[in-house]
Order: sequence, then C-alpha cells, then structure tokens
Amino acid sequence: SAPRRDFVGADPRAVLHEVYGYDAFRGEQGAIVEHVVAGGDAVVLMPTGGGKSVCYQVPALVRAGTGLVVSPLIALMHDQVDALLANGVRAAYLNSTQAPHERAAVERAYLAGELDLLYVAPERLNTEATLRFLARGKLSVIAIDEAHCVSQWGHDFRPDYLALGDLAERFPGVPRLALTATATPATHRELTERLRLPDARHFVSSFDRPNIQYRIDAKTDPRRQLAAFIRSQPEGSAGIVYALSRKSVEQTAEFLRTQGFDALPYHAGLEASVRAANQSRFLRDEGVVMVATIAFGMGIDKPDVRFVAHIDLPKSVEGYYQETGRAGRDGDPSVVWMAYGLGDVVQQRRMIDQSPGDRAFKNRLGQHLDSMLALCETVGCRRQNLLAYFGESAEPCGNCDTCLEAPETWDGLVPAQKLLSTIVRLQRERGQAFGAGHLIDILRGSSTERIRQQGHDGLSTYGLGADLSEQDWRSVIRQLLARGILVARGEYGTLALGEPAAGVLKGETPVPLRRDALGRAGGAPRVRK
Ligand code: ADP
Ligand code: ZN
Repeated sequence: SAPRRDFVGADPRAVLHEVYGYDAFRGEQGAIVEHVVAGGDAVVLMPTGGGKSVCYQVPALVRAGTGLVVSPLIALMHDQVDALLANGVRAAYLNSTQAPHERAAVERAYLAGELDLLYVAPERLNTEATLRFLARGKLSVIAIDEAHCVSQWGHDFRPDYLALGDLAERFPGVPRLALTATATPATHRELTERLRLPDARHFVSSFDRPNIQYRIDAKTDPRRQLAAFIRSQPEGSAGIVYALSRKSVEQTAEFLRTQGFDALPYHAGLEASVRAANQSRFLRDEGVVMVATIAFGMGIDKPDVRFVAHIDLPKSVEGYYQETGRAGRDGDPSVVWMAYGLGDVVQQRRMIDQSPGDRAFKNRLGQHLDSMLALCETVGCRRQNLLAYFGESAEPCGNCDTCLEAPETWDGLVPAQKLLSTIVRLQRERGQAFGAGHLIDILRGSSTERIRQQGHDGLSTYGLGADLSEQDWRSVIRQLLARGILVARGEYGTLALGEPAAGVLKGETPVPLRRDALGRAGGAPRVRK
C-alpha cells in the first residue's frame, strides 16, 4: 500500500487533499471536522451522498488514537475498509464474519496503536468483553453511523443501538458523532437523547436534492408504464428499478430485456456470484438498468445513476427518500418516477395487519404508510411535501410533476357517498363486506356471476356509479383509503368505513380528489356526466 504519513496534528485540509484527493470540504464538512478535532460532540444530519464519511474519518486521522466507527451494515464495512486501505489509511473491522485469527490480528493492531479506523458492528459493542478491550487502547473519536437506528419510532430500529448511549460513560473525553441521512425532527430529538449527546453541536444540512425531479403516476399497467418511462430518458442512462418481491424483480428484469433494455435482476435470493456479477456490470458498464429489491443500493457509490423507478409503493417516506437519493449523486439532472395504485395500498395495509408486533408497532407502520400516501396524493409540490416531512420548509420547486403540470382536482363527494352507502348497506342488511373489485361491479351495474348469485343487482346503489369508469373508481377508492375515509381489512382487503366517513356521508366533509395523470400511458380519465 501507499507510503503512509502520520497525520496526527496535521491541517485537516491537507489530510483531505492527501488522503482523498479532494480540493475542499463540501457544505458543513469543514465546520464539523473542526468542531470534532477540537474535542466536541456532534449530531450530523446530512442526506445520502452529502459526504458524511469525511466528517469522522478526517478527525480520526488528525487526532491521536483510533477512530471507532459503529456501522450496522457488515457488507458495507468491508467495502469501506477496502477503500480506506487503498487510500493508505490503516483501517480494519471487527465482525461476526471473521475467523478467530483474523479478529486476533485486528485486536493486536488496535492495542499497538497501529489503526486509524476500526469499524465495529453495534451488537459487538453490547458485550462487556469488547468494551473492556477497547478501553485498553486509545480512541480518537467515536462515530455512530446510521444513528436513526436507535429510534424506536423510526423505520429502521435496531435494538443493539440502544446500548450505544453507554459509550458516553465508558469513554469520557472521546468526542462522539452521531450521523444519519434520515432524521425527521422527532427522530433527531430521540437520537440526541438516547445516544446521550446533550452538549453536541447539531449540523443539519438541507435534505433537498435540487437535481432530482420527482414524479409519481397512477399505476395502470406498471411494466408498460415503466418501459415508457425508461424510454423517455436519455439513451444509455443507468438506472435502478425497485420492486417489492423477488419474483417481481425477476419478471420485470425479464420483461425489460424483451423490450431491448440491458436489465439485470438483483435480490437476496440470487446466488452470491450472480449478485456480484450483476452489481459489477451495473457499476462498470454504461446504461445498465438494475431491477432490485431494496437490499440493493446500500453503500453502492455510483454517482451517475440517472433514474430511480419504483413499481411498488415504499413503506415509508424515509425509505423513498433513501432509495430515490441514489439517483444523481454527481449533481447532474436525474429523474425519479413511481407508479402506485390501489393494490399497493390494500397490500401494504394487509402486510401491516398481519405483521407480528403489538398495536403500537402496527400504528407506527400505519403512520409511515400514511405519510407516504400523502406524498403520493398531494396536489402541491412533491419536493415541498418531502422536505416538510424532514422538518424543512421550501418554496414550490417548479421541477416536479405537480409543479410542471398542476393536477386537476374534482369534487368526489357524490361518488364517495355512493360507495360508502353501498358498503354500509351490505354490512347492515346482509352482514357482508367486499373488496374494491366487487364494489365497483355493483356501482357500475355490471352483471357478473357473483352479482347475480348474491342478488346484488337488487341493491339500491346498483348501477348508480356507471358514470365513472372502473379506472376512475379505483382512483376514488385509492384516494379514500389514503385519507382513512376507507380502511382495508383482512387477507382479501375488504373495505370498511374509516372514522372520517361519517362526515362524508352527511355531506359535511368535502372530498376533493386529484384526477390521475396517467403519464405517457394514456390521458387523464374524464368523468362522464
Ligand atoms: P454519505 O455517507 O453521506 O452518503 P459519502 O461519505 O459516501 O456520503 O460521500 C458521498 C460522495 O461524495 C462520495 O463519492 C465521496 O467520494 C464524495 N465526497 C465527499 N466529500 C467530498 C468533498 N469534500 N469533495 C469532493 N467529493 C466528496
Ligand atoms: Zn415541485
């Protein structure tokens, strides 16, 4: 490896230049480094790609001792250590994948003061043995990466993080930094408290990614819509397509290949060698479209990802922000696009219902989903809505789908009442509940086998909603679900009335609905009066 110079006491800027080859600190980096080098604690909220690593790595080099980095992602640790070694930084990690002799070698190097950086998984720091061992050497700084994992209300809670607060007492005098890319104001408060950083300085960068254009369309035929979206991007653009299931990943990649795209699948069920080969093609070759589950992307440093597409609804705004944040890290214009529909809402509600966990846990998942739905259904600026979620205020951006073309709204009160009263009748008069498909058949006056069998053509609302297409009805139901006016229950997603439904039935609660923009796949649906 490269001949190594001792950086203890050196000018941070010189370290930045010599070790990383960067000309200057970016954003808050310089201020953070200066504060930590001087011995202060810090809480760093910076979006993905903002450059968090430099914030703790440079102080670790400039201060005497070894920088301890707590990181939850073992796969990432390995890559980070390799990259550091290539830059001549003496880095190592301790985790469960190592053989005892490898671990022993790392421990010896630490105690001999021969490590600049030591990466450790949080579960190891829970053991008294590890803490005693660390106390026998000298720490320069303690960096807690992905610090939002300590939040029990967050989307990524890891119980092992709770013990990290103890590091305050175990290593007094060692400056600590908590870093995260996904903190809402509540998470921010919570992690500051739980990690015991009452005197830390807070460095909050804007989460805005101005070069990313946000677009969300109603889902009609997701694969065709996806192909049309990718075709609308500059030829040879590299992109990531996120899907929820392994099966959907494989089918979508296959479909895109039939459409002439250089698409590859990536999910945890593929053989490690296939995954590695696909990943390296994505990184190396131009214009590869990676179709993946959310397992893909963590720690992948590909700056020129030109688009990110979601064909399934993410579970939370944090997740959406993280995944879309993998686009355009080089700062060049990039587009993120999502197709979302009624089925997504029903499916995710069902998954929440069926998830193991107590009521509070399910409520929390429900709140995450609600915020995600609000972003999907907003008639305002997407970016403004997204930033507001992270506690940031912003003007309408002029560069998202809703800014570029204000969504049309229409008065959905009457259709909502027809639908709600159908549900009420079925429930009261017959003790029955149905999913969206059958209710739409009733409202549109379809003559299906099931309708005839059940005698639903005798209901007073039968055929009352024939003025709307099936597609329009799906849009109505999706939006009522998003607002909690309807709730989906059980395995079949049967629909019931939510709390605000009473106001709608009485005509007291207005129901402005957005007319779906169906993107390239078709025109906006019109209401036939
Ligand atoms: P984060 O952990 O916040 O997602 P990283 O630390 O991985 O971000 O850095 C993101 C990208 O920005 C990397 O490609 C890194 O090389 C680059 N980078 C970080 N700091 C600087 C800087 N001061 N000048 C130029 N590039 C930088
Ligand atoms: Zn906007």
